[in-house]
Amino acid sequence: MSVDPTKPYDSENIFAKILRGEIPCNKVYEDEWSLAFHDINPQADVHILVIPKGDYVSWDDFSAKASAEEIAGFVRAVGHVAREQGLVVRGYRLLGNVGRNGGQEVPHLHVHLFGGGPLGPMLAR
Ligand code: AMP
Repeated sequence: MSVDPTKPYDSENIFAKILRGEIPCNKVYEDEWSLAFHDINPQADVHILVIPKGDYVSWDDFSAKASAEEIAGFVRAVGHVAREQGLVVRGYRLLGNVGRNGGQEVPHLHVHLFGGGPLGPMLAR
């Protein structure tokens, strides 16, 4: 089911449970602001999700309400993970789905980081 990005944060969502350690993830990176882990259903050779540790439903929520430190910490973590995974030289793609039209399924902000080979057209239409 699609996320309604106007709804309040649901602390029982799957990524909140991962952050609390209640369910496992295949961790790639963690710091004060962010956690990165492999997507359970990869859509590319490399498919990593990067999430902020704060309670934000979506990019909309995060960009409106997060502190400058949280935003800087999250953005730096995404860049760090891409570098650490060796994705910069050949390139990679970032994707953030918001709400129904975006196809967002998990109501905790996450950026998809794709790489490992040519990624094809930006959108399948
Ligand atoms: P989105 O459609 O942008 O909300 O993407 C949600 C992503 O979360 C999908 O690519 C799922 O495969 C992924 N996902 C769902 N549950 C898990 C999980 N437990 N661990 C890792 N990735 C997950």
